[in-house]
This record gives sequence, C-alpha cells and structure tokens, in this order.
Amino acid sequence: MTRPIHFGLTQAELPTHWYNIQADLPEPLPPPLHPGTKQPVTLQDMTAIFPENLVMQEMSPERYIEIPAPVREILALWRPTPLLRAVRLEKALQTPAHIYYKYEGVSPAGSHKPNTAVAQAYYNKQAGTQRLATETGAGQWGSALALACQLFGLECRVYMVKVSFTQKPYRKLMMQTWGATVFPSPSDQTEYGRKVLAQDPHCAGSLGIAISEAIEDTLHTPHTKYSLGSVLNHVCMHQSVIGQEAIKQMELAGEKPDIIIACAGGGSNFAGIAFPFVREKIVDKKEYRIIAVEPSACPSLTKGELRYDFGDTEGLTPLMMMYTLGHDFMPPKIHAGGLRYHGMAPTVSHLYKLGLIEAQAYHQVKVFESAVQFARTEGIVPAPESAHAIAATIDEAIKAREAGVKKVILFNLSGHGLQDMSAYDAYFSGHLSNA
Ligand SMILES: *Cc1c(COP(=O)(O)O)cnc(C)c1O
Repeated sequence: MTRPIHFGLTQAELPTHWYNIQADLPEPLPPPLHPGTKQPVTLQDMTAIFPENLVMQEMSPERYIEIPAPVREILALWRPTPLLRAVRLEKALQTPAHIYYKYEGVSPAGSHKPNTAVAQAYYNKQAGTQRLATETGAGQWGSALALACQLFGLECRVYMVKVSFTQKPYRKLMMQTWGATVFPSPSDQTEYGRKVLAQDPHCAGSLGIAISEAIEDTLHTPHTKYSLGSVLNHVCMHQSVIGQEAIKQMELAGEKPDIIIACAGGGSNFAGIAFPFVREKIVDKKEYRIIAVEPSACPSLTKGELRYDFGDTEGLTPLMMMYTLGHDFMPPKIHAGGLRYHGMAPTVSHLYKLGLIEAQAYHQVKVFESAVQFARTEGIVPAPESAHAIAATIDEAIKAREAGVKKVILFNLSGHGLQDMSAYDAYFSGHLSNA
C-alpha cells in the first residue's frame, strides 16, 4: 500500500450531537404557514401528525442537540461510516483532482435514511405513539422506517409510490421482513387514494400523493403519527452526523475539500453532508463550493420557483417556503425514484436563495454512465440517486484536469444500488430515455 484510501473513525468518535443549521442562518427561515389561516403554524397544529418532542426539534433554535443514548447505540451498528478516496476513478479520469466519498450505503437499509428513521422512531416511542404511517418513493425510506420501528417496537404502515412498488419488489419484501405493512399508492386504503384512482386507474403515483395518503391515515387512526423521510428541519438535522464525521475524516486524510457534492431529492442527504461545512462557510468564512445535484426531470432548485407551497399533492401539510415545481407536478418515471419530489427542503432552499450553495441538474443517461464508471473503478454499485452526485463529481474532476489544477472533491454516496438492478438493466438494454 502506497497511500491510505480508507479513513475510518472509531465507534467512540460517533457524533454526540446533531447540528442544527437554523442557529447559524444569516437570515431566519420563513415560518411554515397553516394551510387554512395562512398564519405561522403553532405547536398544536403540528402535533396532529407529529409527536411534540419532534415538533420542538423542528422549531428549535438550539445549535447542537444531544443524540439520545438509545439512538447512538443503534447508529453504532453501522456508524461512523467510512470515507474513501476514489483513487481508481481519479486515475480513469486522468485528473489531478482528489476525489473522496462518504459512504452511507453500509447501513442495514443501504442508504443514509436510517439516520433519521431511528431518531424518529425513538422520539415517537418516548411520546407514546404505537403506530407510524409514512410514504416511500423508491422504497429506501420505507425500509429505513420499517427497520427503525421494528427496533423500537412500533407498528409501521407504508404507502409506496406505485411505479416503485412494481419496479422494486425486493424493497417491499425488505419492509415486510422488518415487519411493516405496505400498500401501492394511490391505494384503496384512503379516501384520497380512491379519488385519484377513480380519475386515473393507471396513475403511477408520486411522493406527493403517497404523503397525502399517509397523512390521511394518521389523522383517521388512533395512536398513529406520521413520519417523513426528508425535507423537514429535524430530518435534515438528524443527517448532520454525515458531515460532522466527514469533517473529522478529511482531517485524517490531511486535506480540505474545495467542492462538496450530494444529490438532492427532498434535500436530506445533501443537508447531512453539507450543513456542517456550510456552518464553517458562514462562521469561519471558509471558501467551499457546495453543490446540490438533481435530475433534469424533477429540477426543483434549478427550474422551480421559491414560494410557499404544500409538501403533498392534496394540500394537507403546512405551507413551506421552498423551491417548488408546484405540489401537483407529476415527475416523469425516472429510475432515481428518491429524487421524484416536487419541492426542496426549506433549509436547503433558503441557503440556495442566499447564494451559499449551488445547484445543477443532470439527465438520467449521463447519470447511469457515471454510475457504471464508478462501479467499474471503485467497485460499489451506486444507487441511481447517488449517481447524480457522481456525475457532477466526474464533471468537476474533468474541469480540474482541463484547467490543470488540483481540486479536492468530496461527495456523498448516499446509498448502494443493489436493489436497483432493474434500472441498470434498462440502461444496459438502451431503454432509458433522457428524461
Ligand atoms: C431517498 C434517497 C435520496 C434522496 O433523498 P434526500 O432527502 O434528498 O437525501 C438520495 N439517495 C438515496 C440513496 C436515497 O435513498
């Protein structure tokens, strides 16, 4: 071995606190509004669907919030996650850039999503919740929550976007293995699902529709709360373990990243790796370029509008100030199911508006080319979502080569793609459109 490529932390170095970017924002976030009164939502409005302890976190101005011991004990099953240097990819690209990636695919569910699922299941259990209802797009969130509910003794009911339910039977089986009940959305289980099906029996579904179904289920079932896998402040905060670990690991590697990249659907894995670096940018005036990468087919940051919009399709959630394509936007059936969301986390949207982060959009054929190049050099088969970050990383590394400058690039590999091989099949057989 000539040089280290693997930068691990010991279990004792697992972060003790979550980082809340709200404490360091140069301007406060515009508050979420009640959909009826258009006034800022109150604690009481929110506790209809979320437990009070999580609502307090959602609204908290506290910079660091301690991670409860039972949550840390479960996170320690796979955290700290590794940071690796992609030397073979660098070589293939003939770039002077150094490419590092933080690998979140080592969790039991194969993505970053258990980082918040475990925390949410814990706080719900503390609050006396017996059952959680949620939606899932590609199935990663549903499987993460199914796992977390099982570990804390909660029931779990998942509304899964129908196109993924059909394309990804193994995700559904993972959820069942961890004890959850799964329905394809739009489903016949809710009034809203039945309404959508009556209008379009072949509706492929969307995250927005599935969220509406899960919220309706929550409002109509006793001892049930709703759980969301992205977008909200507390979810982005729970993911901050990624960036906090990455900062320490880049120190171990003896380098400072110039560019930090992650894919963005609702924005949580991006927030997870980026926000601790954004803090250094705001507080210590560090000069990072921080890039959120989205699909051209669902370009909320690069083509959306910054305005108040609903988080779901029917209009049940509070109105959030975010970049949005409109809550009734129906994204094309691209294979990166986890990125098919009409809006973007209010925190991520706010940073974009303030110019603290950048955004780029990629077509899916280019994304899969990058995914395959990564698998053939680094070995790991990336999730199609994560491959958006790889595509942008490769382009930045090529720019560094053309400019003849050494850049240090860090990207978040949010999950593995071993449950997404049908998407790779579509790519290899030339059936992917450039949506
Ligand atoms: C869900 C998911 C995403 C997108 O969600 P964000 O909240 O934007 O992070 C990205 N990558 C993977 C692997 C996912 O499972």
